[in-house]
Amino acid sequence: MPKAPEEIIRDEILALTGYHVPDSTGMVKLDAMENPYRLPAEVQVEVARLVERAALNRYPDSDAARLKARLREAMQIPAAADVLLGNGSDEIIQMLIMAAARPGATVLGLEPSFVMFRMIAGFCGVRFVGVPLNPDFTLNADRVLAAAAEHRPALIFVAFPNNPTGNLFDPGAIARIIEAAPGAMVVDEAYHAFADRTFMPRLKDYPNLLVMRTLSKSGLAGLRLGVLAGAGTWLAHVGKVRLPYNVNVLTQLVADKVLQHQDILAQQAAAIKAERTRLFDELKRIPGVRPYPSDANFILFRTGTADRVFNGLKQRGVLIKNLNGSHPSLVDCFRVTVGTPEENGKFLSALSETVNA
Ligand code: PMP
Repeated sequence: MPKAPEEIIRDEILALTGYHVPDSTGMVKLDAMENPYRLPAEVQVEVARLVERAALNRYPDSDAARLKARLREAMQIPAAADVLLGNGSDEIIQMLIMAAARPGATVLGLEPSFVMFRMIAGFCGVRFVGVPLNPDFTLNADRVLAAAAEHRPALIFVAFPNNPTGNLFDPGAIARIIEAAPGAMVVDEAYHAFADRTFMPRLKDYPNLLVMRTLSKSGLAGLRLGVLAGAGTWLAHVGKVRLPYNVNVLTQLVADKVLQHQDILAQQAAAIKAERTRLFDELKRIPGVRPYPSDANFILFRTGTADRVFNGLKQRGVLIKNLNGSHPSLVDCFRVTVGTPEENGKFLSALSETVNA
């Protein structure tokens, strides 16, 4: 008799619950920080032509040289920095932690923040230390520095702006942490398109800084493309755990084409930012609802009795992210993605009705 899976699979994996993606068929989908806008028809035609001619019988360019050159220009990556691509930035987090997973290694992150930092550390058998944010979700640099001194983390992850709180941390506090980090510091700029600050130019100042971006939030979530920029001394080793053809032919072709129309992505981001302001103001007006200021394409807000509100929204065809129970500081909290004016309108009506019911 072969062994049962439970005797083979690692205990820490058995203990996990997989990342759950709820069914959103027919719903107003405001749970996943997607850009609600499609590409204009003329760009769709250009994309279709490229796809028609694509050599799908061949493996992709493993180095993705052409796409990297385009990304360097589009993201203003300093010439001295190297670039590593992932099948989404999730995969880059995985490569980083996998490469650093020496026995006894620690990864440090903030909490609440993006859950995949902790989850992927778990997948790789690496200890994760989560340092709490202040109650107002600002960064407590002294606490992070004390934890870094105590645990000597191989990697520190900071999302800038942070998910799910939406705020940018104080750049001065982040700089202090980079300077004191015993290993590499990853500044995850997944929501950069909606924020005015970036650490990209600071790559020149810090040999242990790695800046991560993604195309997912700015209109290309379906392509799965993440980007890591940083010193070649780090990326040359991290790149060794990259699977050879991790960025597929269609992603390389289409991302390169769409990035030639950066003005369109920028216009869409500007529309989302304008809607973010309106959504924030409208949320503030609903009695019992407290939104938190955001530099991302989503808003964190608190209401009474989150689970009842979540179900009320679902019954009215609106799907957002219920954060109640995910972290002690997120009791009765939700995260809503900024959608189109129409989607946001439907969400706001459903929320008012539910809160008043
Ligand atoms: N970093 C942060 C902070 C995120 O919120 C997300 C997506 N939720 C990611 C990384 C992963 O993005 P992707 O894998 O789509 O590039």
